[in-house]
Amino acid sequence: MLDPKLKHPWAYLRFESHISVTKTTSKRFSFFKNGGSGNWDITIEFKWGASTGSWGNAVLISQGGNPVRITRGLVIFQANRPDPGFYADPTPRDNTEFKQYSSYLDDEVLLNRARIFSKATGDAQGRIDLLRVATHEIGHLLGLSDDYVGFQSYCGPNPYCPIEITAPRPFAGYIIYLEFGPHVGDRWGDGGLPLMVPDPPVGERQLISGLDALLIAQLSSFNSPNLGPAPPF
Ligand SMILES: [Zn+2]
Repeated sequence: MLDPKLKHPWAYLRFESHISVTKTTSKRFSFFKNGGSGNWDITIEFKWGASTGSWGNAVLISQGGNPVRITRGLVIFQANRPDPGFYADPTPRDNTEFKQYSSYLDDEVLLNRARIFSKATGDAQGRIDLLRVATHEIGHLLGLSDDYVGFQSYCGPNPYCPIEITAPRPFAGYIIYLEFGPHVGDRWGDGGLPLMVPDPPVGERQLISGLDALLIAQLSSFNSPNLGPAPPF
């Protein structure tokens, strides 16, 4: 069972200004809104097990509705984890184990593309941040999944796929390049990476970036992603 504080890290996305998380248990995410892009209820279960990924993986279980969105999924955390092991933060909201916070803008447009805590101290030092792994895998279940028809409509079987943002979403015309996984490819090369790149950084905590939220909104047919400041630290 996850620490209850990890229940809904993507709740901060607030895809529409009037979406809010209305009901959460350790297994259920419930989003609602009053108009625009429709309702979205997704149930995500978590377990420790033999993950197909080094640290974790996400399994799409069902999708449906109009527009089609993922409705149920499973996150499996790697029980037989390799070195250097996880850091399971007992207080994941305060980020106090990290001494530096960096925010990065995209090179082309004024879109946040990375929010990263670094200079880890104590037990967080040199380990993989479990909060990052959980948030990343939830990101897959919000749209970045090979098995999701919303993803397939853009990329088909092509693992290297450009996603062009379209109106009415902000930054229409901006292109996000995906690579195998599906993940966001690194085209910046300066360590300022979105949450949905393939590999977790050692000893750092990546939060959801504006780019991640915009990408998920495009794939899952939400019109007004909240690209504002990061959640409170
Ligand atoms: Zn991934």
